[in-house]
Amino acid sequence: MLAVATQGGDAARLAFFGLYALQHRGQEAAGIAVSDGRAVRVHKDQGLVSQVFKPGTLDPLEGSLAIGHTRYSTTGSNSERNVQPYVVETMHGPLALAHNGNLTNADRLRQKLLERGAGLQSSSDSEVLALMLAATEGDSWEDRLARTMPEWEGAYCVVVLSGTKIVVARDPWGFRPLSVGKLPTGGYVAASETGALQTVGCSDVREVKPGEIVVLQSGIARSYQALEPKTNQARCTFEHIYFSRPDATWDGLSVHQARQNLGEELAREHPAEADVVIPVPDSSMPAAIGFANVSGIPYNEGFVKNRYIGRTFIEPTDELRRQGVALKFNTLPANIEGRRVVVVDDSIVRGTTSGPLVRLIREAGATEVHVRVTCPPIAHPCFFGVDMGSYDELIAHQLGVPEICDHIGADSLGFLSVGRMMKALGRDDGYCNACFTGDYPMPIQLSLTTSKKRFDGVIG
Ligand code: AMP
Repeated sequence: MLAVATQGGDAARLAFFGLYALQHRGQEAAGIAVSDGRAVRVHKDQGLVSQVFKPGTLDPLEGSLAIGHTRYSTTGSNSERNVQPYVVETMHGPLALAHNGNLTNADRLRQKLLERGAGLQSSSDSEVLALMLAATEGDSWEDRLARTMPEWEGAYCVVVLSGTKIVVARDPWGFRPLSVGKLPTGGYVAASETGALQTVGCSDVREVKPGEIVVLQSGIARSYQALEPKTNQARCTFEHIYFSRPDATWDGLSVHQARQNLGEELAREHPAEADVVIPVPDSSMPAAIGFANVSGIPYNEGFVKNRYIGRTFIEPTDELRRQGVALKFNTLPANIEGRRVVVVDDSIVRGTTSGPLVRLIREAGATEVHVRVTCPPIAHPCFFGVDMGSYDELIAHQLGVPEICDHIGADSLGFLSVGRMMKALGRDDGYCNACFTGDYPMPIQLSLTTSKKRFDGVIG
C-alpha cells in the first residue's frame, strides 16, 4: 500500500514503481487511484502489478496525487469487488481509500452501517473504513479520520485520497509498518515498506508513528498525533521473520540484519552436527548466513527457486499451495550429496512446504536433514493482517514439535523460542507475538477465531 503526492508530477507512474516493490505483500490484485485536483480516477483488477498495469494503462491516470494497493486477502474473499483502492462519492467530494491490516471489530461496524441503510458492495473491511469515513462529520478529511479512528479496533494503516490531498494514518498499536519519505523533486511518498520509498528515490524516511495522521499536500507533510499510542504497542514480529523484504527498515531495525541475528540465535539454541547450512530461498537466506556464522558450518545454496511463480502460501487454496512447492524449487545435488544438511526456514505455518522440501533434499543425496526454524511454532491465528489460516489449519495447533518433525520427515527439528527471538531483535516488548503465544493485544471476537472461510458468506 502506498500514497504519492508529487508537485505537479506524474503520481501514477511513481505509484506503479512503488507497487512493484511491494508486490510480495499481495499477489491477488492491484490498483491505483489518482486525483488531478478535480476528478478521482481508478484502475484496479485481479492479478499481479505487471498484469493489471499494461503499457498505456497509466496514461489516463493523470494527476499529481495517487494511492495504490496490492491485495492479499485476510478477510473478505479473493473476489473482484474486494480489489482496492475503493472509490466513493461523498458529500465532500470523491474519496479513495486503501487499507493494510485487519480490523477485529469489522463485523460489528459493518452491521452498524447496514442498520443505517448503507449499501455495501464487498465483503472486505476496507470498504467499511471508507464508508464510515465518508459518513463522519468534520472540517477536513484529517479531522474526519481522527474522529473515526477511535472506532476502529485492530490493525490498520490507511491511505486516503481526496481531490486535493492525501491523508495517511497508522493504528495506535502500530501493528503494521508505514513510513513516509521525501521525493527528490519535492513532494512525499508513504508506503508500507521503506524499500518502496528507496525505489522511488525518497530521502528523510521516517516511520509514521502509531496513532499518527500525516497529511501530504502541496509539497508539505503535516502530522498530527490523532490518538495516543497504546501502552501495549504491538508491532508485528512476523514482518521481521518473513513478511517484509530484507531491504526494509522496521521499528528502526534493518530486516536483513534482524533475520541474520535470528539465524545466529537459532544456531545457539538448536545447534546441529552437519556439513552444510542451506536456506529456503529467499526469505531465509540472511538467517542461514547467521546460522553458518555462529555454528561454523559452511553456508551454501541447495535450492534454486523459480522467482516468477510467486509465494506459494499467498495462493488462496491448499491444493494450489501444495502444487506450488513442487513447481517452485529445484535442488543443487552437487552441494547436497553425501552431506548432513541443516535447512533453515523462516516459519512453519500449515506444514505444507517443509515436508516436500525435506524430501527434495533427501532425493538430492543428503545423508541427514536437520530443519531449523527462525521463529517459534505458530499455534494461533493472526487477526491483524497476516494470513496464517485458522486454528484447524495450523500444524503447531494440532501437533507438538516431535510430531511435526515426523510429519515433515526430518532427522531433527528446532524452533527458535520467543525469548531468543526477542533477544535477536534486541527488544523486550512492543511486539505482537500472539501467533506464537496466543496472548492477543486486545480481546478477539469469538466469531473471528473460526475458519476465515466464514467471512466469504457474510456478504455476497
Ligand atoms: P507452510 O507451508 O504453511 O508451513 O508455510 C511456511 C512457508 O511459507 C515458509 O517457507 C514461509 O517462507 C512461507 N510463509 C510463512 N508465512 C506466510 C504467509 N503469511 N504468507 C505467505 N507465505 C508465508
